[in-house]
Amino acid sequence: MASFDVVLKGGHVLDPVNGTDRVADVGIRLGKIDEVGDGLDTSGARVLDVGGRYVMPGHIDTHAHVSAVSDRGIDRAIGFKMLAESGTTTALDLNGEPHAFADGMKRRGSGMNFATLLSLVPFESVPEDDPRPRVVRKTLDQALADGAIGMKMIGGYHPFTPEATAGIIEVANARSAWIAYHIGSKETGSQIEGLREVPSILGRGRLHVAHVNSYTRGVINRAEDEVREAFEILSSMKGQIVSEAYLAQINGTNGLCDEEGNVVANVPRNCLQLRGYPRNEIGMRQALLDGYGFAHVEREGRIELATGEEAVAIWEAAGTNVSLSFPVNPASSAYTLTTEKDEDGEFYVDAVSTDGGSLPRNVAIERTFALVAFGALTALEAAHKLSWMPSQMLGLLNKGHFSEGADADVTMVDPGSGRATMSLVAGETIMQDGRSVADGGTWLVTSEGEAAAQASGLKHEVIDLSKSRLYEGWS
Ligand SMILES: [Zn+2]
Repeated sequence: MASFDVVLKGGHVLDPVNGTDRVADVGIRLGKIDEVGDGLDTSGARVLDVGGRYVMPGHIDTHAHVSAVSDRGIDRAIGFKMLAESGTTTALDLNGEPHAFADGMKRRGSGMNFATLLSLVPFESVPEDDPRPRVVRKTLDQALADGAIGMKMIGGYHPFTPEATAGIIEVANARSAWIAYHIGSKETGSQIEGLREVPSILGRGRLHVAHVNSYTRGVINRAEDEVREAFEILSSMKGQIVSEAYLAQINGTNGLCDEEGNVVANVPRNCLQLRGYPRNEIGMRQALLDGYGFAHVEREGRIELATGEEAVAIWEAAGTNVSLSFPVNPASSAYTLTTEKDEDGEFYVDAVSTDGGSLPRNVAIERTFALVAFGALTALEAAHKLSWMPSQMLGLLNKGHFSEGADADVTMVDPGSGRATMSLVAGETIMQDGRSVADGGTWLVTSEGEAAAQASGLKHEVIDLSKSRLYEGWS
């Protein structure tokens, strides 16, 4: 006798694994997918009429920001709600600190599934610059015990030597811990030259290359040529690299200037250079005044963009150390990175991420479905890149599809606007009409982090990274 807790009635179901691409009902029981079929029995069930909507496995965002090692002015935990409101159901916090992460999920969580990484900032989260393997091992042990699933190198801000970078990857690989890299060593930078360096740094190792779009902005060559070169590099390392790209025009960076008035970090220097501004305080002030640069402001509990005089005032009040955004991601790169496939018929770039959360650019779903409306992707391919590929990346194999017994994480999308209208995690509604309606969440940890997760009081789940695409065939 079929009896469901929830029935999603009459939506256009997209399930890339089972090849479902038609109108059907989805029956959910005990937080799991029970049945996909026609005219399911709704007696006793909560019925959600999703007619006219796409019904896809929940968006899994492999690059989000809800915590940070050092962050002045903005409570990054605001990102839990912001990300849920765009329709994402599971995410990886890519620039994190596990204590801040867990505290944020308790205070401002949105019912999502979330894993976090420790980002490596010299003298803050790791005790030395270009840390020696012994030091990295100790830092990683602690991060895993604190509930992170691995580490992130932020080469656009705190680059290491190529040797130290290689050593960090090796330590993470030896533990099958997650290792993500915002490209750029002390010898290259956060652009295509940094990506060119990856094969020699990586050797036979495994790596998550963060936001491929950030190295194809046309800083060195034409953006179109940089995308082609990025594809060649990714292909040459196929099986060793997992990757994502985001679809927002704006990036997220920092406005810090040193005592001489020079912009400190590599990424904002590139942003100014792209439009011919001097890479110093004068150039930064002018870029903000001209509406090229944006500062982040909190309004009604969400982060928004400010520009002009308002942005200059925010930047100055914080002594230049604030989050900024520049519209530096060319649409042609975004388009190609999202749609292009290699000779095996697989996408060069595995997943569509937001690089958002607390940054106001959670547009992965709506921009991917804009490409569907444009005819550049099929709706099934959109679900593949937004959900099934990222689930494989992370080894969350019970997500990303609607097989019987799969986790009932679901995102409903309006085909007209491309926007998510509702989402469920484990059969519970976490977002309705663009508003977050749940709190807390499920903390995804490795077995080493289970005790920390338990102690936090948050719901948690132990994940197995040996099942991830990052470590597929690794021993
Ligand atoms: Zn990021």
